[in-house]
Amino acid sequence: SGIVGYIGKSSAHSIILDCLTHLDYRGYDSAGLAISNIKTIEIRKEKGRIEDLKALLEIEPINIGNIGIGHTRWASHGIPSVANAHPLCDVEEKYIVVHNGIIENYRALKNMLIHEGHTFTTETDTEVIPNLLAHFDTGDFAETVKKVVPLLKGSFALAIMSKSQPDTIIAISQENPLIIGYGENEAFLSSDISALLSYTKEIYPIKNGEIAILHSTGINVQTVDGKEVKPDKIIVEWDKDDFSMKEYDHYMLKEIIEQPKEIKKTLEGRLTENSVELPELNKLLTQENLQSFKKIDIVASGTAYHAGIVGKKVMETMLNLPVEVSISSEFRYEHGPLNEHNLVIVISQSGETADTLSALKEAKANGCQTIAITNRKRSNLARKADYTICTNAGPELAVPATKAYTTQITVLLLLAIVLTETINGPGIERIPEMIKELEQLPDEVEKTLIMTQDAIDQFAQVTEDQESLFLIGRGLDYVLALEGALKLQEVAYLHADAYASGEMKHGTMALITPGVPVIALSTQKHLRDKTISNIREIKARDAFVIGVTTVGDDDISEIVDEVMYIPEVHPFLMPIVAAIPLQLLAYYAGTVRGFDVDRPRNLAKSLTVE
Ligand code: GLU
Repeated sequence: SGIVGYIGKSSAHSIILDCLTHLDYRGYDSAGLAISNIKTIEIRKEKGRIEDLKALLEIEPINIGNIGIGHTRWASHGIPSVANAHPLCDVEEKYIVVHNGIIENYRALKNMLIHEGHTFTTETDTEVIPNLLAHFDTGDFAETVKKVVPLLKGSFALAIMSKSQPDTIIAISQENPLIIGYGENEAFLSSDISALLSYTKEIYPIKNGEIAILHSTGINVQTVDGKEVKPDKIIVEWDKDDFSMKEYDHYMLKEIIEQPKEIKKTLEGRLTENSVELPELNKLLTQENLQSFKKIDIVASGTAYHAGIVGKKVMETMLNLPVEVSISSEFRYEHGPLNEHNLVIVISQSGETADTLSALKEAKANGCQTIAITNRKRSNLARKADYTICTNAGPELAVPATKAYTTQITVLLLLAIVLTETINGPGIERIPEMIKELEQLPDEVEKTLIMTQDAIDQFAQVTEDQESLFLIGRGLDYVLALEGALKLQEVAYLHADAYASGEMKHGTMALITPGVPVIALSTQKHLRDKTISNIREIKARDAFVIGVTTVGDDDISEIVDEVMYIPEVHPFLMPIVAAIPLQLLAYYAGTVRGFDVDRPRNLAKSLTVE
């Protein structure tokens, strides 16, 4: 979902539509806008895509005005429909609101408001906001907002307009990003920097507890309790170019293909001849400090969770410490003992994933030291963690994460190395070889792309009429299978399931019937013989097996129906190299099956709802 806003001299609706188009990649199911020409404020909204909203505006043109707000909605409460689309108002249309996130206590607020005689026309949680504003109206727009905001629980970014003060927009950001962009005699609002880059690079991310009042004469930021704030503006270093699709058909393909370059950026300045430098951790990396940790927790969601499991397996081998990986939405409510002896690592590409932010809060509340691994160094996650390591991978715009995964693992490997060095862990002897291989990694990934892209494109054609598919692997290959399955689910809408190779015989083998496609991963040399036995078991049930293994492993190629070779690198780095064919498979399977690979149905980039 996304929020944009404009106040200035130009036509607000064309700027808002343009900015919304830049947020298109995030996933949404309806769109709308409100435009003020000072005399009136008009609203248009439509189910579907921004194109559909544009089509509506052709039929029902909106007044030309210089002030406006816009929204793309990713439905959390109430179906995607015109009525539930934002902007939403109270029945008298006094207040007009667009909202990203969830108002957790909306039920209680709605009951109270209904009891007080307010009427509701949608199923959204958002609708309580304009109604609360109308209910507590003080006659002054900003004062009313300040009265209402403390009543709202949950995470929300809001842009609000008021019929009584149609020359003003008020913006709030509570655990949900919203950024002011400064132009020449004009100002912008957006939930995402990418929408603003054609207009300005000077921005200010609104902080929790602040309200920004955008007026044609200027912008005023203050705290909800009325203290003036002097916004410390930031100049964005990302470029418009970073957001272009270039010659590729989809962002997803661009992001897969550009992984060698992005991994290089992740490694840049961090590898020395025989060591790793992460100066952002300097304060943490003392032996005394690290010795006080009894356990590491890695917490993340989706693809980042899978990167986290790779991190766990590597760290457990290198450090003499237990490492547990948890799903953010689970960790938030249930976890083992947590105190100052836990080092908690949270991972999120956007740094705005609501589940992971809540998990971080939980860790901090229990006195843990925290490290964030994120691609956005000014995100909420980065700001709130004690330490932040940025993946430096450039903006990821396709909803399915690809370069986020490989660069997060790269950072986890760097982190494993510095931690091992500092405490002289049992993995210390592996470090020189790992460093050598990390230096080569961008080239090896490049090689993998060249070796597999066409073959996978071909192979993906057979998925066209499949319903399900299995992936199996042992150790790090099992983690890879989990990520490969997730990609196929979200991009190709295939019922893909991952299993630890040795686990199939304990139940799932019953689903193996003749012809069922199974991708067998064998990139971990020390587990290879057992994997071969497992592949034989599946072949004996006549499945169609595609093996993914390292160049020259003929034993695997002899027993499978198709084989995909990838370069051999250090076993810890194999999950990065071997992810490439699986990402490509998801991409080509998604396109051959006719789906919108950049924006899979029901999904959104950077989920700011829990
Ligand atoms: N919770 C709101 C709704 O479902 C906003 C969702 C969003 O787009 O972030 O309408």
